[in-house]
Amino acid sequence: MSNESERNTHEMVEFRYSCPVCLSPRLKMVTGMCQHRMCTGCLYNREDGTLKTSMSKCPTCQKPAVFPLKRPDIPEDNILIQKMLGVTQCPNTNCFTELWEWELSDHLKKCSHAPVKIATLRRKSPRSSRSMSVLSPTNNETKIFQHRTRSQRLAKQWETVSNTHLRK
Ligand SMILES: [Zn+2]
Ligand SMILES: [Zn+2]
Ligand SMILES: [Zn+2]
Repeated sequence: MSNESERNTHEMVEFRYSCPVCLSPRLKMVTGMCQHRMCTGCLYNREDGTLKTSMSKCPTCQKPAVFPLKRPDIPEDNILIQKMLGVTQCPNTNCFTELWEWELSDHLKKCSHAPVKIATLRRKSPRSSRSMSVLSPTNNETKIFQHRTRSQRLAKQWETVSNTHLRK
């Protein structure tokens, strides 16, 4: 029963808070003057950070010129809100996939950036002892563990954030 209500909550969050253009969970979202939110990847050209011509109108309400012409720096607070909604990033080095927390275990099973086995790495490059420690499975397990305790930490961070706002 509780599993089903959890799934319903996830579906509601996915439906409401994914980027309406790429339909993906994203950490960096920009709110337009019309108050619609799109991810920076959909709004801005990757090379020079300028607004894509297709985004000169809001894709949701068609109002013109609601998004900044240059990709803005996204404040940490805004990224934290996305994390509180359940958006996370694959913990594997060089995998920048953003996904819902509840999709992570499935992703990790097929992630192409899973840590290289130390035995293989040693045979291939005997001198790269430094990169080995970066890629070690222990390191990755730590990250997954950190991920599990994330909700507790986020609750704490949220207190800090709301306190900060109260003080302003
Ligand atoms: Zn998007
Ligand atoms: Zn809009
Ligand atoms: Zn991954």
